[in-house]
Amino acid sequence: MNLKIGVIKGDGIGPEIVTEAMKVIDKAAQIYGHTCEYMQLLMGGASIDVHGVPLTDETVAAAKSCDAVLMGSIGGDAKTSPWYRLEPSKRPEAGLLRIRKELNLFANLRPAVLYDELKGACPLKEEITEGGFDMMIMRELTGGLYFGERKTVEENGVMTAYDSLTYNENEIRRIAKRGFDIAMKRRKKVTSVDKANVLDSSRLWRKVVEEVAADYPAVALEHMLVDNCAMQLVKDPKQFDVILTENMFGDILSDEASMVTGSIGMLASASLNETKFGLYEPSGGSAPDIAGKGIANPIATILSAAMMLRFSFDLDREAEAIESAVAKVLEEGYRTIDIMSEGKTQVGTEKMGDLIAGYLK
Ligand code: NAD
Repeated sequence: MNLKIGVIKGDGIGPEIVTEAMKVIDKAAQIYGHTCEYMQLLMGGASIDVHGVPLTDETVAAAKSCDAVLMGSIGGDAKTSPWYRLEPSKRPEAGLLRIRKELNLFANLRPAVLYDELKGACPLKEEITEGGFDMMIMRELTGGLYFGERKTVEENGVMTAYDSLTYNENEIRRIAKRGFDIAMKRRKKVTSVDKANVLDSSRLWRKVVEEVAADYPAVALEHMLVDNCAMQLVKDPKQFDVILTENMFGDILSDEASMVTGSIGMLASASLNETKFGLYEPSGGSAPDIAGKGIANPIATILSAAMMLRFSFDLDREAEAIESAVAKVLEEGYRTIDIMSEGKTQVGTEKMGDLIAGYLK
């Protein structure tokens, strides 16, 4: 298979971590008989330096012509970088917001995996995390409260603010389908999270999710109220496979779930649209404090690349091989500085990439 991949290395640690992910993809492609065609794309500060804007129309068109885009991270230090003396619509982050919109990326996927070897970094009690956990949070990204009408007005001398939470059935159906598709590639369980005891939007959410579930008889569906889900995530995270939820609930729950895994350098993410296309990136930022030092953890980006192979190219075997190689490297005791603990072997960004590529089978 020929993999046409757009690559946004971005700013800060972006180029360092993406280089390692490409190394791992190349090795997997070599083993499994694929070819990779990379298209380098400029976004964020790197694009401002060349074009004066964080994202050009040409780059958007080029990204659309790829099967998937792998990204590092964009942005710099807001206090010292000249990019932040520009007006907000010309700053690095504006490029990211625009590309998400242009590519219609409505589904955000964030895995929260606790590797047994890293359980020391988890703030939960050992009896809760024994054996690790592995869940996927699927968050609706372009609707709901963050995109509804809002206003602040004075009513009878009292300042009053309004935010509206709207979902239509089509928006719910398309994300629900995505959630069930992903569950089919995993342990076949969907926990749909809402607040159906209070909100109309949640009652419609629940109804549409049930309709979609009828097309996926192999997947077990349960509904959970968001307040209960927030508790269950710290009480018994092992119970979850795919958590499917709307924008604001997903924003909060995905941060809670990622916190219980320990390190930001391990957190992959993907944003998908209705086709197989996706934008894959680590959850962390460009980490200007450690950029250029060769110490950033590339694992989140490498795991994002594995997600890309699984969800955009249906290369499940290759994705599993990468995930197993990551687990193996951790088992063997290799750590970047952010996940370092006593008795383990500290390695830099490049060495970590070499090790993971080397363990690929
Ligand atoms: P950050 O995630 O870049 O850094 C927070 C802390 O985590 C830092 O101490 C950093 O060194 C550490 N860290 C992050 N990734 C790491 C890795 N792979 N390995 C080891 N340590 C890692 O967040 P921030 O400092 O708030 O933001 C820095 C810049 O990144 C800002 O310009 C921000 O706008 C941008 N940002 C971009 C994205 C994106 O591209 N999607 C996301 C978040 C932040």
